[in-house]
Amino acid sequence: MEQAQKRDVRRLSLAELEQFFLEKGDKKFRAKQVYDWLWNKTLKNFDDMSNISLSTREMLKAHFAINHIQVDQMHRSQDGTIKNAVKLYDGKIVESVLIPTPKRITACVSSQVGCSLDCNFCATARLKRMRNLNPDEIFDQVVAIKDEATEYFERPLTNIVFMGMGEPLLNYANVMEAIAKITSPDGLGLSPKRITVSTVGVNKMIKKLADDGVKFNLAVSLHSAINETRSRLMPINDTNPVEDLAEALQYWYRMTGRKVTYEYVIWKGINDDHRHAVALANFCKIIPSKVNIIQYNPIDEGEFQQADADKVEMYLEILEGNGIVAKVRRSRGQDIDAACGQLANKHSVV
Ligand code: SAH
Repeated sequence: MEQAQKRDVRRLSLAELEQFFLEKGDKKFRAKQVYDWLWNKTLKNFDDMSNISLSTREMLKAHFAINHIQVDQMHRSQDGTIKNAVKLYDGKIVESVLIPTPKRITACVSSQVGCSLDCNFCATARLKRMRNLNPDEIFDQVVAIKDEATEYFERPLTNIVFMGMGEPLLNYANVMEAIAKITSPDGLGLSPKRITVSTVGVNKMIKKLADDGVKFNLAVSLHSAINETRSRLMPINDTNPVEDLAEALQYWYRMTGRKVTYEYVIWKGINDDHRHAVALANFCKIIPSKVNIIQYNPIDEGEFQQADADKVEMYLEILEGNGIVAKVRRSRGQDIDAACGQLANKHSVV
């Protein structure tokens, strides 16, 4: 408990850490050394900082903690997918997933504890939003998966998707700060082109991303390009309707020149007809884009069921006929509740 009460040293900027050392009568460059251990070498405790003297390490320990997340439980799927339930400094739990493919190792990370969005088909929505994750807590999830990639696959982490629990654009500042650390040469040095932030479609924040000139990829969970259906699936659509989303995405494309990926689940009797497929094709023409058709991962015995294969084919034909790139994404990690929309701390007490 003592640890949790001390300030996490990683909340300090480099300038603040330099200030700290100067105030303690130490050298300014000490801060850079410590910063390097924290963000580049991702150390979890002060004692391992081998070029820092014992007395300085003791002084650091007296003032600060390193509240690194702990992998509380790790589940491995038959298909190689790994799900981590990670414990935060205050005992709360979030989940992150390692997804191996022949060419990539992708980390799927959470941005909030729980979620406030109430999408009807998503298990995470059943948890209320408890709090935002701090930048270091997001960073640590990536580090845990990076280490598992080395340990279990002997391969490096190649990609990161913000498709775990929570809505990244409703924890904007912390997600941006985590990405800055992940991409910085002084941090993990991963290219922003290998990072994708997925949003339910918070239009104001999509425009902010564009204004901030971000270099990572944007994905939007669309699921329907028809307001009535989308509102039924995702209540956020009441305040962020499809026309406004289109306008925000046009702004995004004008400012960044980057295409967008739409995530789309096709459900039986909900959006599996010709009208919805045509609406999606038309929506895709607004700005350059591609579609990932995600298989539905059942979360209960409820109203949602995966559409039949012929309906998915119908969508693909219409999209391809309109020159739109669409891929059907195989579900991964379903047996351990690690697939899209299944993250809900089932195995853990929150
Ligand atoms: N809040 C962000 C990040 C979550 S990403 C967003 O909405 O984009 C999780 C992705 O899985 C989203 O595209 C979401 O719509 C999708 N999803 C949620 N529940 C699902 C389920 N049961 N089966 C398949 N996909 C699901």
